[in-house]
Amino acid sequence: MNFSFTEEQEYFRKILKEFAKDELLPQYTKWDREGITPKHLWRKLGQLGVNGLRIPAEYGGSSADCLTTGIAAEEIGRGDFNLTYAVMLNALIGEIITKHANENIRAEWLPKIASGEAIIGIAITEPSAGTDAGGIQTTAKRSGDTYVLNGEKSGISVATAADAFIIFAKTNPQLGNRGISAFIVSKDTPGLECTSYEDMGNVSIGRGSLYLQDVEIHADHLIGQENEGFAQVMNGFDLSRLLIGLQCAGAAFQSLDETIEHVKIRKSFGKPLAVYQGVSFPIVTHYTQLEMVKWQAYRGLWLRDHGQKHSKESASVKWLGPKYSQEAIHECLLLNGHYAYTKEMPLEQRLRDVIGLEIGDGTAQANQMVIAKDIIGRDFRSY
Ligand SMILES: Cc1cc2nc3c(=O)[nH]c(=O)nc-3n(C[C@H](O)[C@H](O)[C@H](O)COP(=O)(O)OP(=O)(O)OC[C@H]3O[C@@H](n4cnc5c(N)ncnc54)[C@H](O)[C@@H]3O)c2cc1C
Repeated sequence: MNFSFTEEQEYFRKILKEFAKDELLPQYTKWDREGITPKHLWRKLGQLGVNGLRIPAEYGGSSADCLTTGIAAEEIGRGDFNLTYAVMLNALIGEIITKHANENIRAEWLPKIASGEAIIGIAITEPSAGTDAGGIQTTAKRSGDTYVLNGEKSGISVATAADAFIIFAKTNPQLGNRGISAFIVSKDTPGLECTSYEDMGNVSIGRGSLYLQDVEIHADHLIGQENEGFAQVMNGFDLSRLLIGLQCAGAAFQSLDETIEHVKIRKSFGKPLAVYQGVSFPIVTHYTQLEMVKWQAYRGLWLRDHGQKHSKESASVKWLGPKYSQEAIHECLLLNGHYAYTKEMPLEQRLRDVIGLEIGDGTAQANQMVIAKDIIGRDFRSY
């Protein structure tokens, strides 16, 4: 076993840690207050090589491994949780396009994703199908050289900021899960309308709905084989779930670091808060839980890099990462006292932001289903 990162990975971590501390953290709450997506920072991440980690060099990326992508998720999470969507979405979408799309799509979109010039969202969820993603009702009907898409997508990250979306639709409703395909659809395609939500957190991500009315796209916008898109593309979620665990852990570790500094200085009854076990033990509990989830995440990424099965590891990280992180941030908020309840400090926003990813990309139960299927067996899942 070897738990160490390479020198190159440690250097990348150092660069991103400094960038997060100096350039992201001071402005983290600004984008939430102003309700805007800081696209210039997505481009900055492009310059730092973060957007193209899972994109081949010939398309402007670096073909870095998944472990390195995990480092980016963790470190950016320390500075601005919402910018970690750039790490996660670009890794997920970069992989999907690289592995499954045709050359025209790769050449058109991958360089723009890597540079941060384009933002692409992924649209699966619908008003009547979330956890049961196979139950989507959006359809894509083939008509000569085109597909015509109709339906509604809900809860989609970057709905108001994206330049294009990977949209899942049924090409053969009789086949259930196996009748679903994925398409890339540019935001300004006639018939596609994007609206925004007023969310509790992740405000600068601009989550919203997509309405598709007779959206006509050329047949070569299909990603992967017709009716096989779901299985091919779902594999990407084993990556995004590991990254999400690290995004959340990064935000929580940063909160713990800030809180440790606070409890060393702040006094009650003549002594620093840190000397009271009622203060230090909760910090230790959250630190321990976060360390465990962090290393399970890196283990999952290592397994993915080595072509080994990692769905249940990924599901365990997606289930416990956001949960342990929001619990840690909540505790940090309490240990900082009443000031942390104001918008002067970032803790209340981190709490709101991290809770979003207890739902996004699959709830705790959805991930527990994946683990149950693996360790107990498929037959007992739908008994
Ligand atoms: C911040 C955020 C970002 C998101 N980004 C995207 C995005 O970019 N693209 C996208 O397509 N979607 C996105 N989503 C949507 C997200 O993937 C769905 O909300 C999620 O899959 C849950 O679906 P649902 O909301 O319809 O809840 P439901 O499926 O209705 O579930 C409601 C509750 O019931 C539980 N439940 C459901 N079925 C079972 C069962 N069989 N056993 C036990 N419990 C069950 C769930 O765990 C949940 O607690 C995002 C959501 C959020 C909050």
